Amino acid sequence: MTKRIFRTILGVAVCMFLASALLFLTVLYDYFSGVQQAHLKTQLMLASQGVSHEGAGYFEGLDLAGYRITWIGTDGGVLYDSVSDPQEMENHFAREEVKQALSEGYGESSRYSPTLTRRYLYSAKRLSDGTVLRLSVTQNSLFVLTLGMLQPICVVFAAALLLSTLLASHLSKKIADPINHLDLDAPLHNHVYEELTPLLHRLDLQQRQIRNQENQLKRKQTEFEALTKGMTEGIVLLDCKGFLLSSNPAADRLFHTGEDALGKHILSIYPSPVLSNLLTGAGSGIYTEEVLSLESRTYRLTASPVMEGGLIHGIVLLALDVTEKESLEKLRREFTANVSHELKTPLHTISGCGELLANGMVTPEDIPAFSKRIYTESQRMIRLVEDIISLSHLDEGAGDLQWEDVDLFALAEKTISALSPEAQRAGVAIKLEGEKTILYGISQLLGSIVYNLCDNAIKYNREGGSVTVSVKEEEDALALCVADTGIGIPAADQSRIFERFYRVDKSHSREIGGTGLGLSIVKHAARLHGGAITVDSVLGEGTTITVRFPK
Ligand code: ADP
Repeated sequence: MTKRIFRTILGVAVCMFLASALLFLTVLYDYFSGVQQAHLKTQLMLASQGVSHEGAGYFEGLDLAGYRITWIGTDGGVLYDSVSDPQEMENHFAREEVKQALSEGYGESSRYSPTLTRRYLYSAKRLSDGTVLRLSVTQNSLFVLTLGMLQPICVVFAAALLLSTLLASHLSKKIADPINHLDLDAPLHNHVYEELTPLLHRLDLQQRQIRNQENQLKRKQTEFEALTKGMTEGIVLLDCKGFLLSSNPAADRLFHTGEDALGKHILSIYPSPVLSNLLTGAGSGIYTEEVLSLESRTYRLTASPVMEGGLIHGIVLLALDVTEKESLEKLRREFTANVSHELKTPLHTISGCGELLANGMVTPEDIPAFSKRIYTESQRMIRLVEDIISLSHLDEGAGDLQWEDVDLFALAEKTISALSPEAQRAGVAIKLEGEKTILYGISQLLGSIVYNLCDNAIKYNREGGSVTVSVKEEEDALALCVADTGIGIPAADQSRIFERFYRVDKSHSREIGGTGLGLSIVKHAARLHGGAITVDSVLGEGTTITVRFPK
């Protein structure tokens, strides 16, 4: 830019100089022409006086010093010419200056002579005898004049060129330097010539606007990061082609994304057919869902296209951990199937017995046995339905039940006395150890824990066996322990007996009226009280189940 300014200033200066020189030479040329003509006239007046007095003798020995003198007779013929032979010269009446001199006494003109290839100035005067005396001189052309002045012109031109160069260099620096050294970070702190001030004000305004927008963007980015950082759902932002723009920590753990992966294609970081399907779907503008199993967990992945003006600008990938939801769903399905199955057997029995009775196909002696069967099966159904209701009540948190101080020892005493007929029938001795132990809890649920544990201890016992219930206070827990000398539980089944409808020996459990839900109720009720259950069992020797409630 500095060079351009320099060249322009220099160019203008040189052009100005040449134009002024031309104008000056033209004016000078005109002036010199006027002076030469006046001088020619004076010389002619002197010569005409000489010719008037001396006639042709005047021309003898005359020093003409570059002038040409011609004497024209009254008939137009040339009487004398200082350059050419008068005999060979044509009639001169037609010459402009001669015509004017004859009519007005004096005439002058200037002409270009093709024969002599020069320009001439002419002055003519009519003498008293009617003849005309003419004096002429070569007039220098503008070119010749310029050539004559070439040396001073060159000197002046060189000086002007030097001066213009210095001036152009100085001016271009003066214009460009402040621009080159502008402090663009603080436009209004620059001290420059006033023509730049509007530009600097504009710059300052735009910088403030950009800073504001930057701050807004940063704030939004921080908000977004803070929001997504704590989320358990993985969020990945991709451009429309699938290149990674941003991801939150949950997504980084899943897809191995993160700072280093920014700008890379998601499939190059985490190659997966599931992700590829999602990208294809979202890339064509369709909301797409897929399920991905990863490290024994299940994720629901959704890909939503970000559309604006009918164009896809990006893709938002969301990963939701649905492992718990899926397993709950599975449990629910299994539970429904189990309930249907458990209800089907007694219902079929009742329905079969009822049909036989209704059709009179049962002999009067067998009627009591059939009626007992119907009664037993319906009792089993009632127990099953009651257990299901208890479980679903526990699943919903049992929020309607009241929390209070409960004496665990008294509760166990009450349960044992309620179960003693059953224990007697089974030939099992049952005893209670311990002392009054107060626990803050739900009396009804604590009662069902004691009941189910004692009931199992009697049911899965042997004749002549025993059940010992103990309630004691440990260092940091209150323990309810039910120990029996029964059949025991195989080690492989010990972890599963708390599952709904799980029985070690299905037919035996059914025979003795088990529903397979007792220990599930115990587990839920204990969990609601913050309690932990331990099982200690040896096959063929007996089982001890302990529930510890935090103090
Ligand atoms: P059920 O109604 O069949 O007794 P539970 O949920 O109470 O259902 O118990 C599940 C299974 O655990 C029982 O079917 C039984 O096989 C086993 N079980 C529970 N308690 C005992 C115990 N004290 N001794 C031996 N086996 C037991």
